[in-house]
Amino acid sequence: MARLLEELTSQEVDAFNREETIVLLPVGATEQHGKHLPVGTDTMILKSVLERVLKDIDPEIPLLITPVIPVGKSNEHLNFIGTISFSYATLRGVIEDICKSIARHGFKKIAIFNSHGGNTDTLTSLCRDLRDQLNVQVFVIDWWFTNFWEDILKEIQESPRDGVFHACELETSIIMYTFPHLVKREQIVASFPPEPLRSNKYVTIFGPVTMGWRTEDISANGVIGDPTKATSEKGRLLVEFAARKIIEIIQEIQSL
Ligand SMILES: [Zn+2]
Repeated sequence: MARLLEELTSQEVDAFNREETIVLLPVGATEQHGKHLPVGTDTMILKSVLERVLKDIDPEIPLLITPVIPVGKSNEHLNFIGTISFSYATLRGVIEDICKSIARHGFKKIAIFNSHGGNTDTLTSLCRDLRDQLNVQVFVIDWWFTNFWEDILKEIQESPRDGVFHACELETSIIMYTFPHLVKREQIVASFPPEPLRSNKYVTIFGPVTMGWRTEDISANGVIGDPTKATSEKGRLLVEFAARKIIEIIQEIQSL
């Protein structure tokens, strides 16, 4: 049974098989997304994809989705008003405490589902520690810095490589599709990282050498990418693609 935890009674949660159930823990962010997208963009995208997952997934799959954590580690954006950030230690503590609560009741599989690139390092390092501490399997599903979007972007992306990064072609398309009234279309502008960060062989915003950048190092307006290429139709394709892929990942985790 695939359900949102917050809609169940304690007794209903108790009916879930502890060994087989995957507890999905979604982690978003609240941070500036340029002048055209709301600060809740990452969290909204997460919720929209999860809504679609719940609609399309085989209802027999034992899946519990915890409440979405709407704040992440966004200190790269803190010089832009509206951004709210956990520190590394707080994010780590919040996720650790939630996983402890889940493990305390005997669940064995936790999948952290992250929609914000600034959370990635913290979550991936934490998942191994949690396995050691709690003796549960902890997975991190991440769509930044992985090939998650690769197949769909090959088909629909019109901007160059750094057109998809932040408040970009991808994120703007999804919010145009899911919350069209929240997109300030007249404010949409492209903004690419300065040279040499676009053409360097090693030190770029995509790595392989990381530089602890802050948003103002690479963008004056908070946009990193090309939202002018965004469309609502691309947003629909992206949400459907992501939901299909999340379902496949959940099925694969279930088989382990
Ligand atoms: Zn975002």
